Amino acid sequence: MSNKLAFHDLYSDVIGQGLCTACGICAGVCPTKVIDMDYSNQEAEPILTGKCKECGICYKVCPGKDIPLKDLDLKFLGQERDFISDEIGIYKGCYKGWAKDKHIQNVSSSGGMVSALLIYAMENDIIDGALLVGWDKEKPYRAKPIIAKTPEDVLNACRWTAEAIPVNELLHDAVMKEKLQRIAVVGMPCHIHGIRKLQASGVPSKIAKSIKFTIGLFCAATYYFEGIKHLIGEFSDVRSLDDIETLDYRGGSAPGALMVTTKDKRIHSVASKHDYTWHFLGPATYKRDRCLMCVDFSAELADISCGDIFQPVIPGRKHVVATITRTEIGEELVKGAAGKGYIEYSDHDPSMISCSGMGWESKKHAGMYRLMERKRHNWPAPDYQYPLGQNVKKRKLTFPK
Ligand SMILES: Cc1cc2nc3c(=O)[nH]c(=O)nc-3n(C[C@H](O)[C@H](O)[C@H](O)COP(=O)(O)OP(=O)(O)OC[C@H]3O[C@@H](n4cnc5c(N)ncnc54)[C@H](O)[C@@H]3O)c2cc1C
Repeated sequence: MSNKLAFHDLYSDVIGQGLCTACGICAGVCPTKVIDMDYSNQEAEPILTGKCKECGICYKVCPGKDIPLKDLDLKFLGQERDFISDEIGIYKGCYKGWAKDKHIQNVSSSGGMVSALLIYAMENDIIDGALLVGWDKEKPYRAKPIIAKTPEDVLNACRWTAEAIPVNELLHDAVMKEKLQRIAVVGMPCHIHGIRKLQASGVPSKIAKSIKFTIGLFCAATYYFEGIKHLIGEFSDVRSLDDIETLDYRGGSAPGALMVTTKDKRIHSVASKHDYTWHFLGPATYKRDRCLMCVDFSAELADISCGDIFQPVIPGRKHVVATITRTEIGEELVKGAAGKGYIEYSDHDPSMISCSGMGWESKKHAGMYRLMERKRHNWPAPDYQYPLGQNVKKRKLTFPK
């Protein structure tokens, strides 16, 4: 690839083609910090704010158009796979688990595995910090990327938002400004694709070397904020977003509901998670365009991947996290955290993952079909390097109640 590629190439090949995932990595790796994530049109979008030096780094690490899964599988997970019939990618262990600490369980989305692993890594000198999602203090109904440096920061993070958050945009600040040398990144599959491309390219080297591990979240889709605004406007009596003090997508008992607290301290339960994702945001459809072409459900390149389990796998317990380890460090973290009492876990049947909600279907069948159609017509589409094809299987689907 020519080192003359510039931001305008990224714009014409990715952003302007509807292929940007809004992961933020272009902004996070720009050595001169002239790429910013802009929200002036409501949804996060990379823009150029100064003179581009045409180093080509943003283009090279961008996961919008080119995701060389085959190369990345080989490099980071040690083998290629049968892309079509493999349901959850290459893995070492498949577990179900939760944070042992009750407070972590209560403030987490589906059992606190992610938060507990991060806190274990911080308290045991494995990482200096983590890139996560937090709440915007000025607009408390919107989430934004944060650098967490303490267990308190992890617990104050936003446990769940349906929005696409450009977590990777903080790479530069975390490493170059805050001088963190060992960081974890928690993100959706597209964030992890960007991070793996960064690690594979090795440039910028200080940032690439700082990644200690990644935790990927299973992902059916992320949604335009417009959908969330519409949902609140139509299904609650909250009159203005400016009246909102806090917003919680997973409030109440698992799997939770979209709950809004207004400044007058009233709590508004807008819709259950099942209703707002599967009956409103998804079908309406507020899914981001690029998500419709994504074929990675279970964050197949992460060191550890975590997702909800909607089947009743442990009698009496609702908060259980499907936890897939894919690398040595992933496996060490889970075992280490369990050994020191941060988490509890046991084996999980991997074939249950594709039956838990409609996330797997969205990516592995619907997304795959859309991708094949787009490629057939030569429309802008991401390239995952493996041959495409669908995996239709009989499943006993379980939805969140
Ligand atoms: C938009 C979205 C869609 C999902 N879709 C599915 C699905 O279809 N099926 C499924 O099984 N699981 C899905 N998950 C994953 C699942 O809901 C839980 O996040 C996962 O089980 C981890 O739970 P936990 O209790 O261990 O996480 P916690 O300990 O609560 O930690 C969660 C971490 O997630 C991060 N986070 C929250 N929202 C975002 C976001 N939008 N982008 C990046 N990071 C974020 C926060 O930084 C937080 O630290 C989805 C998650 C999200 C955010």
